[in-house]
Amino acid sequence: MTSLGALWTGTARIEDGDDVTPEAPIAPHMTDPELLADRLLGGGRLTEHECLELLRTPDDATVRLVAAASRLRRQHFGATVKVNYLVSLKTGLCPEDCTYCSQRLGTGAEILKYTWLKPEEAVAQASHGIAAGARRVCLVASGTGPTDRDVDRVGRIVTRLKSDHPDVEVCACLGLLKEGQAERLGSCGVDAYNHNLNTARSHYPEICSTHTYDDRVDTVGRAVDAGLSPCSGLIVGMGESDEQLVEALAALRDLDADSVPVNFLMPFDGTPLEGTWNLTPLACLRILAVARMMCPDKEIRIAAGREMHLRSLQPLALEVANSLFLGDYLTSEGQGAADDLTMIRDAGFTVLGADGSPASPASPAADRSTAPAPRAETARPATSPPPTPSAAPTDSATAPASAPAATPAIRRRGAGTDVAPNA
Ligand code: SF4
Repeated sequence: MTSLGALWTGTARIEDGDDVTPEAPIAPHMTDPELLADRLLGGGRLTEHECLELLRTPDDATVRLVAAASRLRRQHFGATVKVNYLVSLKTGLCPEDCTYCSQRLGTGAEILKYTWLKPEEAVAQASHGIAAGARRVCLVASGTGPTDRDVDRVGRIVTRLKSDHPDVEVCACLGLLKEGQAERLGSCGVDAYNHNLNTARSHYPEICSTHTYDDRVDTVGRAVDAGLSPCSGLIVGMGESDEQLVEALAALRDLDADSVPVNFLMPFDGTPLEGTWNLTPLACLRILAVARMMCPDKEIRIAAGREMHLRSLQPLALEVANSLFLGDYLTSEGQGAADDLTMIRDAGFTVLGADGSPASPASPAADRSTAPAPRAETARPATSPPPTPSAAPTDSATAPASAPAATPAIRRRGAGTDVAPNA
């Protein structure tokens, strides 16, 4: 068996029974990311064992993994970046107990808490993101799932939003869906539905006790059955093992979601995962690169937590991911939206739909184009609080955090406030 560390340094331990020959030259190995990219470009797929080996790529070989994954990204999406914009319609006060979530039952996180935005407020918030170049607006509400009255409420928002912005895609994220609700959302103009698997089935009981992994799979299935574009992804850094990360990525591949957001745990103070720092910037790059190689032609979206976990490597992540959220998240503040757009441009990419860039093949609105709109100048994000200590690492793919990271800056602008949004 070839040891991975040796593989990447050009030497190998060749074991044949008890006969071990150290320092023998190695032959090309199928975990070479370039060879795997060749296979994927030819229509093949990764095995779960290969996926695990790639996740365990050493730091000093990670750039090679990124380069290989970048070939797939560019094959399917060119140099475009899809910009998405979150509007939190209802924040906090959730009866569920997801350990990672600042909106959970009994949270001690001092987040904004508000009930449903009025339609005109929601559309005004969304319009800021659209003006900044967002091609998709993601309408999110906390809670177990919507009532039928909630679905009607969201329907009115979507109708109004589509009337003002007919070319924008709308994704709803309202929790677990009951029978018929996905169809009703679709009839109001919703294009996509987000419901993340979040982690591996085998890890799910560790992160939530009030609903099950199967509940989540069922809701994605309801969205698909209703003809909505499925969006489902991950939160990494929650103490999952490398094997569980592979399990989760394989499940997402099987789910065949059109878009796959990859969130990096933001360990809010006042939540059970407070102080959990399992990720390094290079580990985050590996996870994104492997997500790309598991789902070569899907929209891989860099989602919440990118600023604090990828840090200065954010632009490199665009080499494998083709999508991001602009500006702030549901309960925390992101990097300034103007900085997001500058980063995209500086790294040599273009915003999807801007400057005549081609539409995404994975997009349900692939044949629509949106003229670039001038972006609003925004305030810089609030200064982050002081660093918190790192928790013990959990596994090699998510190796020990190399430096203390800042705690999430709680969102105090945009939806639910009188302060202009970060867009
Ligand atoms: S993730 Fe959603 S369901 Fe879970 S606690 Fe947060 S808002 Fe509630």
